[in-house]
Amino acid sequence: MTSAVSFKQVSRHFGSVRAVDAVDLDIAAGEFFAMLGPSGSGKTTCLRLIAGFEQPTAGSISIFGERAEGVPPYRRNVNTVFQDYALFPHLNVLDNVAYGLMVKGVGKAERLKAAEEALSLVRLPGYGTRRPGQLSGGQRQRVALARALVNQPKVLLLDEPLGALDLKLRENMQEELKSLQKVLGITFVFVTHDQGEALSMADRVAVFNDGKIMQVGTPEDIYQRPNTRFVADFVGSSNVLPPDFVQRYSGQHRWGSLRPESIRVSSAASGDGVAARLVGTNYLGATTRLALDADGLRLHAVVPAGTPLPAEGEAVMLTFNRESLHLMDETA
Ligand code: ATP
Repeated sequence: MTSAVSFKQVSRHFGSVRAVDAVDLDIAAGEFFAMLGPSGSGKTTCLRLIAGFEQPTAGSISIFGERAEGVPPYRRNVNTVFQDYALFPHLNVLDNVAYGLMVKGVGKAERLKAAEEALSLVRLPGYGTRRPGQLSGGQRQRVALARALVNQPKVLLLDEPLGALDLKLRENMQEELKSLQKVLGITFVFVTHDQGEALSMADRVAVFNDGKIMQVGTPEDIYQRPNTRFVADFVGSSNVLPPDFVQRYSGQHRWGSLRPESIRVSSAASGDGVAARLVGTNYLGATTRLALDADGLRLHAVVPAGTPLPAEGEAVMLTFNRESLHLMDETA
């Protein structure tokens, strides 16, 4: 099957900065793909390489099986939604959306019709005559989306498109983007540093660190089976367990990760399990997060609200299923 986007050993170095470093990547056609990672890890540079705003210093990129070298951005069948939306303030909404078609020489009637359709798609019909300055942040976001969709790209690149929105609006837009992607069947490549957003929206996630991809997988792979300490730490709030600890429970001298919700806490300081002390509780509404000290190792557990708990400072026993202890291959 042809990949929508394929990177073979792609690097983009800026002097001594290895923004993207020997990355291999295959994004399937029709996939909702998230690039997740901390600030400066190379996500935006990857997106710019796909768009054609940057050229690799090494390696090769293909888009739907065609080598991208030398193909200018406007001929790539790829569009970008930027975080700051980059709308033209002096043009009204309809002209903003139709702009790309105008540049391509599409006639006025045809491009305005296409722009109206794109505005309906993002649920902003009838807003065509407003200026960007007369819209809310969420509406501007939709206009930017309509503008990127109007010439029917095969790949849509989204660079933290929800970053400027407040939490509620952000959650609504997450759902809308997801259903829009399903309806259109376009490949979406979505950059975010928000792990919740990546896990909830994407079919697959690539976790970046320092210009490299640490792991690619389904949200469940990434969350339940992180392959490195970095991924375990960055995605969710795993307990990262040192090899000496893991050896006692699995017989293997390897790093392990254990999700807080996989740990059961009982007050009986006897029986089989990890002896610990409850050192803090943090009420979170639906759940309570517990800080625990297991012989100098700080662990966290999450239990449903209302679970009877021992007093802080008391001895507790921790148990978990052996399967929920995930062993990691690398220690990076
Ligand atoms: P953020 O989430 O903050 O946008 P990011 O993961 O998208 O971060 P990039 O913007 O890709 O990261 O940057 C990766 C690294 O490359 C950073 O160290 C950045 O400073 C550097 N970098 C990016 N563009 C340039 C450039 N034009 N010149 C020099 N260094 C650059």
